[in-house]
Amino acid sequence: MRMYYPRRSFIKQIGAALGYLGLSQRIGFGQTNDEIVYSKVENTPTVISTWKHGLAANESAWKLLAKNANALDAVEKGVNVSENDPKVMSVGYGGLPDEEGYVTLDACIMDKNGNAGAVAFLQGYKNAVSVARKVMENTRHIMLVGEGAAAFAQKMGFPKQNLFTEKAKDKWLLWKESQDTKSKQLQIHDTIGMLTLDSGGDLAGACTTSGLAWKMHGRVGDSPIIGAGLYVDNSVGGAASTGVGEECIKVCGSFLVVEMMRRGAEPVEACFEAVRRIYRRHKKIPDFQVAFIALNRKGRVGAASLIKGFSYAVMRAGINRLIEAEYLVK
Ligand code: ASP
Repeated sequence: MRMYYPRRSFIKQIGAALGYLGLSQRIGFGQTNDEIVYSKVENTPTVISTWKHGLAANESAWKLLAKNANALDAVEKGVNVSENDPKVMSVGYGGLPDEEGYVTLDACIMDKNGNAGAVAFLQGYKNAVSVARKVMENTRHIMLVGEGAAAFAQKMGFPKQNLFTEKAKDKWLLWKESQDTKSKQLQIHDTIGMLTLDSGGDLAGACTTSGLAWKMHGRVGDSPIIGAGLYVDNSVGGAASTGVGEECIKVCGSFLVVEMMRRGAEPVEACFEAVRRIYRRHKKIPDFQVAFIALNRKGRVGAASLIKGFSYAVMRAGINRLIEAEYLVK
């Protein structure tokens, strides 16, 4: 096993540049698309999110950012795309259920003022992040769970619906029939975490998930936990996580990434520190994944994962890219 430390901002592009240049004047001509997406470009609206489905979510967030909308609206509308898409089987509608066949959602959101809202173990409402935003804006609390969260969602006018699609049911039945403890160990995950920087220089973040597939009924992961699945400090930056939530919670992962940036670390270095902490708690080669994305207040982005296989999407100046993250354990 070889420990890896990032020495430079090496990226492998697996996405294609998307046409128009939007706000590119603000960051100057003469830069290649790569430089625009990942280089030392500063102070321009930016969106970063986890996994391949982040590309579509970024587009939605970008549409708002390009019109000078605020980071909070952009991040909510961005992750709503994954929540609404039944093909994304780790978030919202169509998410894979727990071991008993219940689709339960976790989500949180933070704004530029450090306000936060969250829901956990929410059933029957696909836009968990929007319910979380209502908790932030319409209550004196930060988190509502289970039946209380569902009752609140209903009161706020969110439509109730069955989130368990036929496709998700088929996969669940297959898993049950196979009694495959190995695939249980695989702990399927693909949460969307997203961070946005708007044209006013303000940040917001969101994280929303159906959690680990085949989890125990009642289990809540890192995604709705402020400081674990998400953390935003407008004076520093934001971070979000995906992967096995239990591991992230134990190191206060997203908070740690932001605190590292506060002390001067580049986003990628800060993300590596969080995965390194997780790695050190385990004596052997990890058979699970945890990954972080980060965006600092200047618009610099970065990410890191524990093991190979994590990708994240970055969009700015109208260019949307999927990037394979550097990883710690090779
Ligand atoms: N972090 C999520 C959880 O533990 C899983 C994921 O990333 O999809 O619930």
